[in-house]
Amino acid sequence: MNYNISVQCDVCTSQTNCRLGLSNRAYQPLRFRCKSCGAPIDVTMKPDFETTTCDIQIMGAKQIVGNEFTPDVNFVDLHLDFPVSFDPYVMGHTPFMMAMQRIGFESMKLHAMRVNYLNGVYEASSEIKTLLTLYSKEKHDLFREKVWAFIGVQMPCDSQLDLNRALYFAIEKAFFPFAEPDKNVDAVDSFTRHLDRLGRKKKAALDAFITEIIDSGFLRDVQLDCLEIYPRIIDIELLLRPALFLDFDRSYCKQTVPYRVSALEFLDAKDIFKDMTEIMSRLLVLVAGINNIKHRGGHNRFSPSKGAPTNLKTYVDLPLGLKLQQIDHPWYQVNVDAIDNRLRNSIAHYKAEYDEVTQELVYYPKEEGLERKTAIRMYFLDFSRKILNVFRELHRLNHLTKCLFVYYYLRMLEIKATSIQA
Ligand SMILES: [Zn+2]
Repeated sequence: MNYNISVQCDVCTSQTNCRLGLSNRAYQPLRFRCKSCGAPIDVTMKPDFETTTCDIQIMGAKQIVGNEFTPDVNFVDLHLDFPVSFDPYVMGHTPFMMAMQRIGFESMKLHAMRVNYLNGVYEASSEIKTLLTLYSKEKHDLFREKVWAFIGVQMPCDSQLDLNRALYFAIEKAFFPFAEPDKNVDAVDSFTRHLDRLGRKKKAALDAFITEIIDSGFLRDVQLDCLEIYPRIIDIELLLRPALFLDFDRSYCKQTVPYRVSALEFLDAKDIFKDMTEIMSRLLVLVAGINNIKHRGGHNRFSPSKGAPTNLKTYVDLPLGLKLQQIDHPWYQVNVDAIDNRLRNSIAHYKAEYDEVTQELVYYPKEEGLERKTAIRMYFLDFSRKILNVFRELHRLNHLTKCLFVYYYLRMLEIKATSIQA
């Protein structure tokens, strides 16, 4: 279902013709920029699916009676669930039809299932945020109450192991549309297998590593850092919907034409990208420690090379790019697409410019004094895809923090988990 409307910009009085594609969401805030003056224009749709009507509110412009859409008038296609074209209006080339052409019927069903699930996640967002906060603040009784209500099962929450299990169960339930669930299961299996093997063959070394990251508070801190990201991901779920679509779009990598994201903007997302990249940098410490134990029998023993850190403490402070290099023959393959330190630095040092009208991001990764010669360009859609990738990697490695805690409680403190049947 689509609505064609015309609006007149409050700032410059230019007309824009809009084709609004309807999603299944109860509340659909769309945003674009006036092509003539760059002013933001917000279109909010509240569909009533029973009466098949839709309340459309506009801010930054007023709705006018338009004529047939002609090429001389500004035009935008908007849809929350798909990347849409910046191309001129063509009747029948609706966002839905064009998306269907790109990924086919079966993938469209999967995509629809995930974005519909996200509607529920959005509606449960305060519940999810509360239970994460309660876990972080160690309010165990309240946490149990909230987590039971959310997951719909009275999972035991007696020991620290139980609480951990319930927490990650809730996270999986809430974030399944984002998180490549099959790959997470693979990752958890692989983490568990590696830790089991090291626990048998190099127990003293593994215990020493875990004692250090527990006693210093590092493991707990990095887990809490990860937990702070989840609520912020819910806050920007609208801009991640088109990025999720790209999971199914095989032509995406070869594309040279830009696609539009219809909600939120670069400013809404740059900080979370920066923060997630920083947390990734800390999570790599866990990967490196285990790697050193596996290859050289001690978490402080890096492969000897020029510039190799003398121990894990000095490794923590290495720049992210160098950190990856120090993980030789890695036991766990970090998705390097998820880590873009140059982009992170450019954003952190105000060397990134964003054009809201074209949704083009230009950043300057090199130190070039006053000049800015070496520019890298990407569209907001590509940036949102990077956010999705780094979130997925952070989510996987958050499971590593979980597995390390499980090893600590179970093998080192010999705390038992309460059986689920009990
Ligand atoms: Zn304008």
